[in-house]
Amino acid sequence: MINVGKYQLFRKGQMMSLTVRKVIMLGLIGSVLLIGNILFVANWLADNGVVEWVENFRTEYLTGTAITIVGVLLILLVSPRTKTGGLIRRCPVCDHRLIGSPNYCGDCGSKVS
Ligand SMILES: [Zn+2]
Repeated sequence: MINVGKYQLFRKGQMMSLTVRKVIMLGLIGSVLLIGNILFVANWLADNGVVEWVENFRTEYLTGTAITIVGVLLILLVSPRTKTGGLIRRCPVCDHRLIGSPNYCGDCGSKVS
């Protein structure tokens, strides 16, 4: 009776370990299939030009960023803050916009050099 019980317990444990092995094997097979699918999807994306599309998108994004930087630089260069005798100047005291070449600021009345 005791031997049979031990044998049954052993068999039960062996069956459990077999089940665990089956689960591990299934998991391994599933992982391999998943990795294979990922590679397949990556190859499919490459074949369908999605990678190229992403590259183009990145290039366009970089071009947009460059255009934005150039635009900001142009705005800074064309900014009426330059005191080079242009049509639009600013009062050195109150920063009021002066149109033309007035001698005095129209807002605060201080002399504009
Ligand atoms: Zn002023």
